[in-house]
Amino acid sequence: MNCPMCGNEMKFGKIGARAGAGLFWLPDEEKVKFIVSNNIIEKHNGIVLVDCNEWQISHTAYVCEGCRKVIIDY
Ligand SMILES: [Zn+2]
Repeated sequence: MNCPMCGNEMKFGKIGARAGAGLFWLPDEEKVKFIVSNNIIEKHNGIVLVDCNEWQISHTAYVCEGCRKVIIDY
């Protein structure tokens, strides 16, 4: 896959999270406080990218180190 910013070939790999904290995306206008469960993330129109209960790193991702951009499959 080529980087949508610079056009260079992106490196292929996997994305994960440490210490069972998971990884999520939120729309810019949304905010969550303190304990962030999957339900709260989804209630705020967010997307759970890596569930906090996942033990395996299974989400493939492409990275452009030059632009510091990551494209994640979730
Ligand atoms: Zn790039």
